Amino acid sequence: MAIKKNTPARTAEILRILNETYPNVECALHHSNAWELLVATILSAQCTDVRVNMVTPGLFAKYPTIQDFATVRQEVLANDIRSTGFFNNKAKSVIGAANKILNDFGGKIPQTLEELITVPGAARKTANVVLGTAFGIASGIVVDTHVQRIANRLNLTKNADPVKIEQDLVKIIPRDHWIQFSHQLIHFGRGICVARKPKCAECPMNSLCSAPDKIA
Ligand code: SF4
Repeated sequence: MAIKKNTPARTAEILRILNETYPNVECALHHSNAWELLVATILSAQCTDVRVNMVTPGLFAKYPTIQDFATVRQEVLANDIRSTGFFNNKAKSVIGAANKILNDFGGKIPQTLEELITVPGAARKTANVVLGTAFGIASGIVVDTHVQRIANRLNLTKNADPVKIEQDLVKIIPRDHWIQFSHQLIHFGRGICVARKPKCAECPMNSLCSAPDKIA
Protein backbone atom coordinates (compact mmCIF):
# COMPACT_ATOMS: atom_id res chain seq x y z
CA MET A 1 0.00 0.00 0.00
CA ALA A 2 1.35 3.45 -0.88
CA ILE A 3 2.33 5.45 2.19
CA LYS A 4 -0.09 8.35 2.77
CA LYS A 5 2.10 11.43 2.79
CA ASN A 6 0.98 14.01 5.27
CA THR A 7 -0.14 17.44 4.08
CA PRO A 8 -1.87 20.31 5.89
CA ALA A 9 -5.15 19.21 4.25
CA ARG A 10 -4.68 15.65 5.54
CA THR A 11 -3.91 16.93 9.05
CA ALA A 12 -7.05 19.07 8.91
CA GLU A 13 -9.08 16.04 7.86
CA ILE A 14 -7.66 13.97 10.74
CA LEU A 15 -8.61 16.73 13.19
CA ARG A 16 -12.07 17.01 11.66
CA ILE A 17 -12.67 13.27 12.08
CA LEU A 18 -11.39 13.32 15.66
CA ASN A 19 -13.64 16.26 16.53
CA GLU A 20 -16.61 14.55 14.97
CA THR A 21 -15.91 11.18 16.64
CA TYR A 22 -14.86 12.51 20.04
CA PRO A 23 -16.46 15.94 20.44
CA ASN A 24 -16.34 16.16 24.24
CA VAL A 25 -13.47 14.03 25.48
CA GLU A 26 -11.87 14.72 28.80
CA CYS A 27 -9.04 13.38 30.87
CA ALA A 28 -10.06 9.93 32.15
CA LEU A 29 -8.35 10.44 35.52
CA HIS A 30 -10.82 11.65 38.15
CA HIS A 31 -9.71 14.75 40.02
CA SER A 32 -11.12 17.92 41.52
CA ASN A 33 -8.07 20.18 41.38
CA ALA A 34 -4.60 20.44 39.85
CA TRP A 35 -2.86 18.76 42.80
CA GLU A 36 -5.17 15.74 42.63
CA LEU A 37 -4.59 15.50 38.88
CA LEU A 38 -0.83 15.62 39.41
CA VAL A 39 -1.02 12.80 41.96
CA ALA A 40 -3.37 10.74 39.77
CA THR A 41 -1.06 11.21 36.77
CA ILE A 42 1.98 10.09 38.78
CA LEU A 43 0.03 7.01 39.92
CA SER A 44 -1.07 6.24 36.35
CA ALA A 45 2.46 5.31 35.18
CA GLN A 46 2.36 1.62 34.16
CA CYS A 47 -1.18 1.41 35.53
CA THR A 48 -4.66 1.73 34.07
CA ASP A 49 -6.72 4.88 34.66
CA VAL A 50 -9.53 2.63 35.92
CA ARG A 51 -7.29 1.27 38.67
CA VAL A 52 -6.06 4.77 39.58
CA ASN A 53 -9.66 5.98 39.79
CA MET A 54 -10.38 3.17 42.25
CA VAL A 55 -7.52 4.24 44.51
CA THR A 56 -7.69 8.05 44.47
CA PRO A 57 -11.07 8.69 46.21
CA GLY A 58 -9.88 6.94 49.38
CA LEU A 59 -6.44 8.50 49.05
CA PHE A 60 -7.72 12.08 48.82
CA ALA A 61 -10.14 11.45 51.69
CA LYS A 62 -7.26 10.24 53.85
CA TYR A 63 -4.89 13.06 52.76
CA PRO A 64 -7.06 16.08 51.94
CA THR A 65 -4.21 18.65 51.65
CA ILE A 66 -0.78 18.91 50.03
CA GLN A 67 0.61 19.25 53.58
CA ASP A 68 -0.83 15.85 54.45
CA PHE A 69 1.07 14.29 51.54
CA ALA A 70 4.26 16.19 52.44
CA THR A 71 4.38 14.74 55.94
CA VAL A 72 3.21 11.15 55.49
CA ARG A 73 5.85 8.46 55.87
CA GLN A 74 6.86 6.89 52.56
CA GLU A 75 6.08 3.32 53.69
CA VAL A 76 2.60 4.35 54.74
CA LEU A 77 1.81 6.09 51.46
CA ALA A 78 3.35 3.23 49.48
CA ASN A 79 0.96 0.86 51.19
CA ASP A 80 -2.01 3.12 50.38
CA ILE A 81 -1.15 3.09 46.66
CA ARG A 82 0.17 -0.48 46.50
CA SER A 83 -2.37 -1.66 43.91
CA THR A 84 -1.14 0.88 41.30
CA GLY A 85 2.26 -0.86 41.09
CA PHE A 86 5.75 0.66 41.47
CA PHE A 87 4.37 1.96 44.75
CA ASN A 88 7.68 2.78 46.46
CA ASN A 89 8.84 5.01 43.60
CA LYS A 90 5.42 6.58 43.22
CA ALA A 91 5.16 7.30 46.97
CA LYS A 92 8.61 8.92 46.87
CA SER A 93 7.58 11.06 43.90
CA VAL A 94 4.29 12.18 45.43
CA ILE A 95 5.90 13.10 48.77
CA GLY A 96 8.72 14.87 46.92
CA ALA A 97 6.21 16.73 44.75
CA ALA A 98 4.23 17.87 47.78
CA ASN A 99 7.36 19.18 49.50
CA LYS A 100 8.65 20.91 46.37
CA ILE A 101 5.31 22.63 45.75
CA LEU A 102 5.05 23.77 49.38
CA ASN A 103 8.67 24.91 49.68
CA ASP A 104 9.32 26.44 46.26
CA PHE A 105 5.93 27.39 44.88
CA GLY A 106 4.00 28.56 47.94
CA GLY A 107 1.70 25.54 47.90
CA LYS A 108 0.40 26.30 44.39
CA ILE A 109 0.93 24.07 41.37
CA PRO A 110 3.24 26.00 39.02
CA GLN A 111 1.67 26.92 35.70
CA THR A 112 4.66 26.85 33.39
CA LEU A 113 6.26 23.78 31.87
CA GLU A 114 9.74 24.92 32.93
CA GLU A 115 8.69 25.13 36.59
CA LEU A 116 6.44 22.10 36.63
CA ILE A 117 9.09 19.73 35.29
CA THR A 118 11.25 20.58 38.34
CA VAL A 119 8.62 18.89 40.54
CA PRO A 120 9.47 15.26 41.42
CA GLY A 121 7.40 12.83 39.36
CA ALA A 122 6.35 15.48 36.83
CA ALA A 123 8.25 14.71 33.66
CA ARG A 124 7.26 16.42 30.44
CA LYS A 125 4.26 14.18 29.72
CA THR A 126 2.82 14.58 33.23
CA ALA A 127 3.41 18.34 33.13
CA ASN A 128 1.59 18.61 29.79
CA VAL A 129 -1.35 16.63 31.22
CA VAL A 130 -1.63 18.88 34.29
CA LEU A 131 -1.17 22.19 32.46
CA GLY A 132 -3.59 21.25 29.67
CA THR A 133 -6.32 19.60 31.71
CA ALA A 134 -6.22 21.53 35.00
CA PHE A 135 -5.36 24.98 33.64
CA GLY A 136 -6.24 24.89 29.94
CA ILE A 137 -2.64 25.83 29.10
CA ALA A 138 -1.44 24.32 25.81
CA SER A 139 2.19 23.73 26.81
CA GLY A 140 2.69 20.80 24.44
CA ILE A 141 1.11 17.58 23.26
CA VAL A 142 0.86 14.65 25.65
CA VAL A 143 2.61 11.69 24.04
CA ASP A 144 1.64 8.51 25.83
CA THR A 145 1.76 4.99 24.42
CA HIS A 146 -1.45 5.53 22.40
CA VAL A 147 -0.34 8.84 20.88
CA GLN A 148 3.06 7.31 20.15
CA ARG A 149 1.53 4.37 18.27
CA ILE A 150 -1.18 6.26 16.38
CA ALA A 151 1.07 9.15 15.32
CA ASN A 152 3.28 6.53 13.66
CA ARG A 153 0.43 4.58 12.12
CA LEU A 154 -1.02 7.76 10.64
CA ASN A 155 2.43 8.81 9.42
CA LEU A 156 2.43 12.03 11.44
CA THR A 157 5.92 11.17 12.62
CA LYS A 158 8.65 8.68 11.86
CA ASN A 159 10.09 8.83 15.35
CA ALA A 160 9.77 6.41 18.24
CA ASP A 161 11.02 8.71 20.97
CA PRO A 162 8.13 10.56 22.70
CA VAL A 163 9.99 13.90 22.87
CA LYS A 164 10.75 13.79 19.13
CA ILE A 165 7.18 12.73 18.36
CA GLU A 166 5.92 15.70 20.32
CA GLN A 167 8.27 18.00 18.38
CA ASP A 168 6.87 16.62 15.11
CA LEU A 169 3.25 16.93 16.22
CA VAL A 170 3.45 20.50 17.51
CA LYS A 171 4.73 21.56 14.08
CA ILE A 172 1.64 20.28 12.28
CA ILE A 173 -1.19 20.44 14.84
CA PRO A 174 -2.49 23.97 15.48
CA ARG A 175 -1.87 25.04 19.07
CA ASP A 176 -5.56 25.48 19.87
CA HIS A 177 -6.01 21.73 19.19
CA TRP A 178 -3.11 20.47 21.29
CA ILE A 179 -5.05 19.67 24.47
CA GLN A 180 -8.04 18.05 22.76
CA PHE A 181 -5.87 16.22 20.24
CA SER A 182 -4.09 14.26 23.01
CA HIS A 183 -7.34 13.31 24.75
CA GLN A 184 -8.92 12.33 21.43
CA LEU A 185 -6.01 10.15 20.32
CA ILE A 186 -5.93 8.43 23.72
CA HIS A 187 -9.65 7.59 23.39
CA PHE A 188 -9.14 6.50 19.79
CA GLY A 189 -6.23 4.30 20.88
CA ARG A 190 -8.24 2.66 23.63
CA GLY A 191 -11.33 2.02 21.55
CA ILE A 192 -10.41 1.58 17.88
CA CYS A 193 -6.75 1.93 16.99
CA VAL A 194 -5.72 -0.49 19.72
CA ALA A 195 -2.18 -1.87 19.87
CA ARG A 196 -2.97 -5.41 18.80
CA LYS A 197 -5.60 -6.12 16.16
CA PRO A 198 -6.74 -2.54 15.53
CA LYS A 199 -10.40 -2.32 14.52
CA CYS A 200 -9.65 -0.99 11.05
CA ALA A 201 -12.98 -2.07 9.54
CA GLU A 202 -14.83 0.36 11.81
CA CYS A 203 -12.15 3.07 11.83
CA PRO A 204 -13.18 6.55 10.66
CA MET A 205 -9.54 7.18 9.61
CA ASN A 206 -9.43 4.10 7.39
CA SER A 207 -9.14 5.93 4.06
CA LEU A 208 -6.33 8.12 5.46
CA CYS A 209 -4.29 5.27 6.88
CA SER A 210 -1.54 3.21 5.32
CA ALA A 211 -0.09 1.73 8.49
CA PRO A 212 1.92 -1.46 7.90
CA ASP A 213 -0.12 -3.23 10.60
CA LYS A 214 -3.47 -2.00 9.28
CA ILE A 215 -5.92 -4.88 8.98
CA ALA A 216 -7.34 -4.71 5.48
S1 SF4 B 1 -7.13 2.02 9.87
FE1 SF4 B 1 -6.51 0.67 11.55
S2 SF4 B 1 -4.35 1.12 11.91
FE2 SF4 B 1 -5.18 2.78 10.66
S3 SF4 B 1 -5.77 4.36 12.16
FE3 SF4 B 1 -7.58 3.08 11.76
S4 SF4 B 1 -7.55 1.50 13.34
FE4 SF4 B 1 -5.53 2.45 13.30
